[in-house]
Amino acid sequence: MAEQPNSNNLPKEQVIQLYKKAERIHPKKATGKYANLRILMILVTQLFFYGMPWLMWDDRQAVWFDLAGRHFYIFGLVLMANDLLLLTGLLVISAFGLFWWTTIAGRLWCGYACPQTVYTEIMLWIDHLVEGDRNKRMKLDKEPWNARKIRIKLTKYLLIFVVAAWTGITFAGWFVPIREFVPAIFHGTAGAGSFGVAAFYGFVTWLFGHIMRGQVCFYMCPYARFQSAMFDHDTLVISYDTERGEPRGARKKNVSREETPLGDCINCTMCVQVCPTGIDIRDGLQYQCIGCAACIDACNEVMDKMNYPRGLIRYTTEAVLNKEYTDAQIKKRLLRPKVVWYGGLLMLALIGLLTFGFTRDTLNVDIMKDRAAMARTNQDGLLENTYRLRLTNASEKTQMVKLEVSGFKDIRLTGQPENGVRVKGGGSEMVIVQVATQPEYARKGSHPIVFTFHYAPENEPNRVRDLREKASFIGE
Ligand code: SF4
Ligand code: SF4
Repeated sequence: MAEQPNSNNLPKEQVIQLYKKAERIHPKKATGKYANLRILMILVTQLFFYGMPWLMWDDRQAVWFDLAGRHFYIFGLVLMANDLLLLTGLLVISAFGLFWWTTIAGRLWCGYACPQTVYTEIMLWIDHLVEGDRNKRMKLDKEPWNARKIRIKLTKYLLIFVVAAWTGITFAGWFVPIREFVPAIFHGTAGAGSFGVAAFYGFVTWLFGHIMRGQVCFYMCPYARFQSAMFDHDTLVISYDTERGEPRGARKKNVSREETPLGDCINCTMCVQVCPTGIDIRDGLQYQCIGCAACIDACNEVMDKMNYPRGLIRYTTEAVLNKEYTDAQIKKRLLRPKVVWYGGLLMLALIGLLTFGFTRDTLNVDIMKDRAAMARTNQDGLLENTYRLRLTNASEKTQMVKLEVSGFKDIRLTGQPENGVRVKGGGSEMVIVQVATQPEYARKGSHPIVFTFHYAPENEPNRVRDLREKASFIGE
């Protein structure tokens, strides 16, 4: 706030800074149970992210979101544009699953598995590896530029570039065949579109993970904003036990709890120093807290050194802090009826959707009437309609398709190949067929008919499934 001089003897104007530059936070490295759990989660999620595109399933990438070809391959499942509903259902159920999980366990997702947390943590590992822990990093930042500082910063940025670039390439590899894309990058022959996606995602990884960090959670993440609406007083949150900790204050190490009028918090600020978002958990639950539990590890270490019981900062619930029940009873409250019911319904919906996805027809058919000739009399004197059939194979295996038609007496089908139509996995074939009958069975107007498609994988001819599609036959 700065006061401005005023020549008219009016009260002085005050300038209030609405924008304050975010200060760089250099969290101290935390060690302990939750830090190990976070490392484990990062390894598991990143093994999945970096490894999955390299996994093969038969002759193609096991998981491949082929946007250009409008096919999504997920192991044996091939989803196409008309399966959009299924994908939407999956996304909606996943979103509700996350809401449900948040009601039970608060920000566990943010703290351990959210890509923003994960990449920030990876960038912090690099900071720590190259520049050292918190104090060394802060000291280095204040140092004037010299050869040593340039060397250290260049090394760090080189490592960050490698991680960001590989992350971008991997992300693009979920959408283009990665085994062709990676060599193409090094030979300079990668497509501009896929290269652009890789470069953009790599840039975002650097920007969000290294530069913006917690700012993304504070100002950009919608989930952070509305999750407080999902919290109730039984939700698991990371809290400082004010009653036990206050009044806080420094004391000698060998002073027992009984000998001091102070609470258990020795005001060492270790919980603040390890916090990646720079907040003080002792000020109460704050939206900036991403639930990483680094402060729990830090405080437990301090409690151990003081010979005080652990858990001054811990996972607990608001109700426990209000003395409605004890920490030992949390597990029972986590599985409260509301949670069990919603969880059960979500599970049922997910199982239903997945069952539908894996048992749905793997053949899609578009029936188009030949508009050039609605009905004609053929050389045998029969009344004939022509249809263009697009057969799309929504599985990864080549399928053989045989057609039948029904609807009225003496109905005949011509035009289909003798052994049926062969449609490659994920491919489409166009077939032109004629349906004919005696003129007296199809009087003027439109008559409903039904095409039946018998289809089976080429190498498993006994696994025949039927798909029926309605069409209309135009009489003379
Ligand atoms: S780490 Fe624990 S003892 Fe130290 S300031 Fe934080 S709450 Fe208090
Ligand atoms: S307050 Fe604790 S749990 Fe929350 S972000 Fe900071 S260190 Fe992580």
